[in-house]
Amino acid sequence: MRAEIITIGDELLIGQVVDTNSAFMAQILNKNGIEIYQVTSVHDDGEHILRAVAEALSRVDIVITTGGLGPTKDDITKHVLCDFFGATLIPSVQVEQHVRKLYADRPDVLNRLTETQWLVPDKCTVLANRVGSAPLMAFEKDGKLLFSLPGVPYEMEIAMREQVMPFIAAKRPTNETIIHRTIQVAGIPESALAIHIEDWENALPPAIHLAYLPKDGIIRLRLSGYFDKNDTSAQLAIDEQIKQLEKLVDEWLVVTEDKPFEVVVGELLKAKHATIATAESCTGGKLASLLNKHAGSSDFYKGSVVAYSNEVKEKVLNVSKTNLELFGAVSEQVVSQMAEGVRKLMNTDYALATSGVAGPGGGTPQKPVGTVWIAIATPQKIFTELLHLKGEREQITDRACTKVLTKLIKYLQD
Ligand code: ATP
Ligand code: MG
Repeated sequence: MRAEIITIGDELLIGQVVDTNSAFMAQILNKNGIEIYQVTSVHDDGEHILRAVAEALSRVDIVITTGGLGPTKDDITKHVLCDFFGATLIPSVQVEQHVRKLYADRPDVLNRLTETQWLVPDKCTVLANRVGSAPLMAFEKDGKLLFSLPGVPYEMEIAMREQVMPFIAAKRPTNETIIHRTIQVAGIPESALAIHIEDWENALPPAIHLAYLPKDGIIRLRLSGYFDKNDTSAQLAIDEQIKQLEKLVDEWLVVTEDKPFEVVVGELLKAKHATIATAESCTGGKLASLLNKHAGSSDFYKGSVVAYSNEVKEKVLNVSKTNLELFGAVSEQVVSQMAEGVRKLMNTDYALATSGVAGPGGGTPQKPVGTVWIAIATPQKIFTELLHLKGEREQITDRACTKVLTKLIKYLQD
């Protein structure tokens, strides 16, 4: 079964708001065996919306729109859908009661514009919007379904989970399911990886597809397949292919799941009841930000020192003046002392450190932009590595973080 998504709103087409709604909807539809054929964003313009809806419904079984359901003049989706389905707006007692209750303590909101929210097309099923005032609408025509949902992400998400998915399951039950399995590799260019696994890729069964998703030096390899839910051999087929792939890319394999590296680090540290701290020069706190990004990070992450200047490296992290003068801040000696310094300072089991030339200025013939030293201090030993990274400042520091986390994951896995 195939679906299309239409997101409505001028703000999406001028880059003011990023369309996160379609990503959320695509994920939940995918999980339920529905393939997304196309995602379209359109202006708040009647003709434009009408054309997009007509085209989408001509191609697929299910169309979901978001946005333009509010009570203001620029919200025209409801009127356009009335035109399309030949419906008229009629008051809904059910929606009126809901909206009055929703705004019981907000008399300023219960005005003549809000009252238009309980006018609904007579040719649709109104689904309850538990958290907002705009009615969720489900239209059926020639065996196809069209849903119109609010643009507010939080309202749309609850609507998808609680109303749209059960409605689809009841009206258009499907036995199809989509299985995705992802592994993550690092340390090999995408093209070299593609050549390395070419024979295996060419021999994949037609129902299974491979995607390469590179970012910040990590390549995610995703296998996807559309299968019949009752066909247990399908899951096995994907598992079998993943096993073969893991063997082929063993040298570069970091994680066998689709999880951010910092989450994997957290899990590995928690399993060892170990703690970590960071001392960052060129990455300026990016590692710290990654390590405390997810709930529960206090179990393993203690803190960081952003030691950008030599003064802070010396005074806070106890890096020796001699090393700074002899070898410079971007050196193996200094990055090692930074890691060990913060490990002692924060009393942790492990510590990470970075020191490099992120650019665009500051490069020298000996240490050009992209030269980064990284270090991992462990209870036994300090590991270091010299990186030569390419790209802009942002990419260099992002990649340095990926490299440190990759190195740590590999160490903790052994
Ligand atoms: P409301 O009843 O609240 O007015 P609505 O259906 O009219 O809802 P819009 O006015 O189109 O929705 O959008 C409301 C807000 O939701 C916008 O300010 C925007 O930030 C956000 N939004 C709209 N569409 C999207 C989208 N596709 N992805 C992410 N955010 C969106
Ligand atoms: Mg609105």
